[in-house]
Amino acid sequence: MNLSVKILISMLIAAVVGVLINKAAGDVAFVQDYILGKGGFFDVVGTMFIKALKMLVVPLVFCSLIGGIAGMDDMKMLGRTGGKAFALFMLTTVIAIAFALTAATTLGIGEGFDVGSAASTAVTVNEAPGFGQVLINIIPDNILGEMASGNMLAVIFIAIIMGISIAHSGKHGQRTAKVIEDMNEVIMALVNIVMNMAPYGVFCLMAKTFAEQGLEVFIPIMGYFLTVASVLILHYLGTFSGIFILARLNPITFIKKMRSVVLFAFSTASSNATIPVTLRTVEERLGADNSVAAFVVPLGATINMNGTAIMQGVATVFVANAFGHDLSFIDYLTVIGMSVLASIGTAGVPGVGLIMLAMVFQQVNLPVEGIALIIGVDRLLDMMRTAVNVTGDAATTVVVAKSEGKLNMDVYNDPKAGMYEPIDVNSHKHDLK
Ligand code: ASP
Repeated sequence: MNLSVKILISMLIAAVVGVLINKAAGDVAFVQDYILGKGGFFDVVGTMFIKALKMLVVPLVFCSLIGGIAGMDDMKMLGRTGGKAFALFMLTTVIAIAFALTAATTLGIGEGFDVGSAASTAVTVNEAPGFGQVLINIIPDNILGEMASGNMLAVIFIAIIMGISIAHSGKHGQRTAKVIEDMNEVIMALVNIVMNMAPYGVFCLMAKTFAEQGLEVFIPIMGYFLTVASVLILHYLGTFSGIFILARLNPITFIKKMRSVVLFAFSTASSNATIPVTLRTVEERLGADNSVAAFVVPLGATINMNGTAIMQGVATVFVANAFGHDLSFIDYLTVIGMSVLASIGTAGVPGVGLIMLAMVFQQVNLPVEGIALIIGVDRLLDMMRTAVNVTGDAATTVVVAKSEGKLNMDVYNDPKAGMYEPIDVNSHKHDLK
C-alpha cells in the first residue's frame, strides 16, 4: 500500500474514533488525562510527530538552498527565480481573496446571523510584526540564533549569502559545497524515516482534533464553513489547474503527485512543518531542480498563503454582515491589500491566519471580537487552508522551474518517479566504505 493511501485510511479511522470519543467519553476524566489532554497518548504521539518534521526544516532548507545556489551556473537566475516566484505568489493570493470576497458577498454570508454574546467576548490574538520589522528581521544579528529560532526568512537569507560566497571561494568553496550537498542527502534520508511514522502521527493528531471538536460547533456557522471549504476546493482545482495549463503542464499529474503533501499539510496545519515533504515531492516526484525548489518552497511556506487569504475574505464579509457593517469598495480593496501584506510577515504555523485576520479587521474598522464567531471551526479550516497554501508553494515552484528550463519532464511525466520507499532501518542501502 502506498504512503498516501495509508495516511488517508488512518485519517478516516481517526475521524470516526475522534467523533465517537467526543460523543461517548469526551468528559470522562480518564480519557482526558491519559488520551486527549496534555500528556495524554494522542497528544504525546501527535506532538512528537510534528516535532520530528519541524526539527528537519532548518537544516534541510539551509543545506539544500546552499547547494542550490552554489550549483547555479548564473547568479542572475537567482534574481529571476525570486522575481517570478514572488509575482506568482502575489497573483494567486489576489485571485484567491478576490474569489472569496465575490463568493461570500454573492451568497450574503452572515446576513441575519445572531451575534449573541460575541460582541462582548474578549478575543486575544498575538500581534503580527509590522512590515518594516519583517524586513529588519531578515538580516540576522546572530546567525546561529536565527537558525535556532527558526526565522525562515533569515535562514533563507543566510543560505543565499553563504551559497554566493561558496561560489566565489574557489576550491575552498567547492569542498564546502560538497560537504553540504552530502549533508543534504543525509537529511533527505531522515525525511524518509520521519515519513514512515506519518500514519501513526496523523492518526493521533486527527483523532485528538475530532475528539475535542465534535460536530456541534459546526452547526451554527455551517454557511461560513461550507463557503470557505468550497472556495478552497474551487481555487485548488481551478486556479492552479489554469496556471498549469497556461504553463503547458498536465495539471492532473500535479494533483495526483501532491497527494501526500496535501495529507501532511492537512494533518499538521503547518506549511512550515510540511516543508521537508513539499521539497522532497517537488524535486523527486515532480522533477523541479534543486536550484529552484530549495529557494521557492521555503519562501512560499513563509510568504504565500492562498488558502489563508480565502478564509480571510469570507470571514471579513461574514463578520461585517453579522454585525450589520457595510463594507465600501475601498474596504474591499483594503482587505485584498492587507491580506497580501499580512501573509508576508507571518510564518506558516497553525492558527496564524487568525492573527492576520485581526490586522485586516482593524484596517476596515470591524470589531476584532467578531473572530469569536468563527474561532470554533477554525482548526478544521486551518487544516484545509494549509493544504491549499502548500499546494500554491509547490505549484509556483514547478511553474517557475519550467520557465527556467529547470523542470525534468521525464520525472514529471513518470507516475512512479520518486515514489516514497519505506526505509528498512536494519539494512544499509549504501555500502559505507
Ligand atoms: N496554518 C497555516 C499555514 O501554515 C496558516 C494559517 O493559519 O492560515 O499555512
